[in-house]
Formats: sequence, C-alpha cells, structure tokens
Amino acid sequence: MTTAKNPLAWRGLHLMDSGAAGLPGLRRLVDEVLAPRHANVLVYEIDYNFRFASHPELAGPDAWSGSQAKELADACAAAMIRLIPMINCLGHQSWKEPPGALLKAHPEFEEPPGGTAPQAKLGAKEFYCRSWCPRHPQVNSFVGDLVDELLDAFRGDAFHAGMDEVYVIASEACPRCRGADPAVLYAEAVNALHGRIAARGASMLMWGDRLLDGKATGYGDWEGATNGTDRAIDLIPKDIVVCDWHYEPLQAYPSLEILPGKGFRTWPTVWRNLEGARKFMAAASGRGDPKVLGVLTTVWFPAARLLGALFGGDDTDHGVSPSGENPAAAASAAARTMQTALEEAWTPPA
Ligand SMILES: [Zn+2]
Repeated sequence: MTTAKNPLAWRGLHLMDSGAAGLPGLRRLVDEVLAPRHANVLVYEIDYNFRFASHPELAGPDAWSGSQAKELADACAAAMIRLIPMINCLGHQSWKEPPGALLKAHPEFEEPPGGTAPQAKLGAKEFYCRSWCPRHPQVNSFVGDLVDELLDAFRGDAFHAGMDEVYVIASEACPRCRGADPAVLYAEAVNALHGRIAARGASMLMWGDRLLDGKATGYGDWEGATNGTDRAIDLIPKDIVVCDWHYEPLQAYPSLEILPGKGFRTWPTVWRNLEGARKFMAAASGRGDPKVLGVLTTVWFPAARLLGALFGGDDTDHGVSPSGENPAAAASAAARTMQTALEEAWTPPA
C-alpha cells in the first residue's frame, strides 16, 4: 500500500461489475485514474458473476474466469492497490423482480422459503430487494464457498460482504425466522461470514447502515435501520471494517462517534454529491481518530457506464432514465466527484 501522507489513509473506490468484458477498461481505470490519484483500494463488487468451480450454476454469460481475475489482481498489485472482492450478502438478492443469480439458481434460499414469498406483494411498487434466509441450513456454507473462491481468484486479503439495506428479515412466513429478533438474525449472518473470512486470515468489510439506529441518529430508514437490526452492533466481531455511507450533506454524522466508539474501524463512504462528500470527509478527518480510515468513493451504476464516462467508447448507456436523468451525464458527474474526492483525500483542500 502507498504510504499515506495524511490521515485519510484508506483511499478507495467501490465499483459494481458489469461483466468480464470490462477488464481492459478496468485496467485503464487502475493505471490512469486510481493510481495517479494515490488510491490504494479497489472494492470490486462482482457478486455472483464468476465461474465458480464449487457452484458453476451461478455464472452468467459474461462471468469472470480465474485468469481474468488474476489479470485484474496483477494490475492492482502493480499499482499498489489492494483489491477487495465483494458479494452483496443477505439483502439485495434482487432489484424488485426477478431475483438475482443466487436466488434464481437456488430459490430455496429465499426469505421466506418454500416458494411462499408473496410475489404479488414483492412485485409491488414499494418492494425493494429480496433477501436470503439467514437460517437456511445450507446458505452459509454455500456462500462461504463463493467467498473462498473469490479471495483466491482476486488474491484478496479482505472481503466486503455488503449487507446493506436488508428490509426482508425475520419474516412471519419463515418457520426458521418467525418471531426471532432481527438483530440476532442479522448478527448470525454477519458472524457466519466473518467466521469463514477470518478462518483464512482475511479481514471482513461490510456496509454500516443496518448497525445504526435510524431514529436515534436521525439517519432514517436507509442510512440507518428502523426494523431493529441496529442492536446487532453489540453482537458481531469488532475487527470488521464498517463502511459508513452518507451521500447527501448532513448537519451531523453521529456514526463517526458510534462505530469507532464500539471499536470498529470505520471507513467513511461517499458518492456523487461533491458537497456531501466534502462535508463528510472533513467531519471524518476532523476527528483525528485512527479508527476512522479515510474515504471510500462509490459508483452506483455498472462499471461499463463509468468506463464509458471516463474513456469514451460505445459502452455508455444511452437514453434517459425514468427519473428524467440522462445516464451519460450522470455518469460523468459521478466520475468527476469520485476523482475529486480521491484527490482531496490525498491533498485536503486548504
Ligand atoms: Zn428465514
């Protein structure tokens, strides 16, 4: 890792995979964007898009091979960038419908199980993402196999397990989870993953929102939890690096006290809104707390769109999204914020 010259020692990018075809662009991203800005971590959210030997049924048509993973790992190593593979675990097993690759191949893992998911309700406008059942007797060993393979393929010494925005948990329709404390269920899932990751001597990272009381902190339903999972903060190992995401400018960031206060290394995470990024980074570095690690920039659209914004080419999405946002313009703006935040993490504004 590059030696930090300021307190923002972990300077990273989280990026969502859009297929192995993006590899040449990712190599350019490492060499031409991240390395010159002294970034030292790339969190690569590949999810299930890998040719897993243990579970080949998960691979999509543009899934990564082991040799492609090695190529990205080599590029990151040459640039002194720590490559951390990621699967978004527990929640986020779909965007509305249909299910993502895990539940498509293994619908038995869904919470609630047994095909009892109320599809009409799940397809409703307000429905967000599916979850797996943390008490399915096979799910932890299954996902643990994937974690092992990704750590091997990407030569990772850390794994990001995601675990944000879990809204389907402790379903009354699940005989295993019915009546259980959501905090206990959530902690069981964290601890199972942590056990598998730590057994290899690797570090675990995860998002922080489910560990924060959305009401007490004022963070609300997204940046915090209002369904009781937050009490899991006292039920999980303290060596987990918690990625504390806040994207819009806020008056206060109580998580910068809460998470390190519980003993967690805390990695402030930003996205797109430059004012919000600057405000959160200033609040973080202002604490002078060695447990507050630096900044993780994020890009919440597929890698191909970011690469298109950075390097041109035909891999930029076209058209206008339902929200009226032009995707290419939004990608360019997000790319600028990401680059500026990394630059300012290295050389803070006077
Ligand atoms: Zn369950």
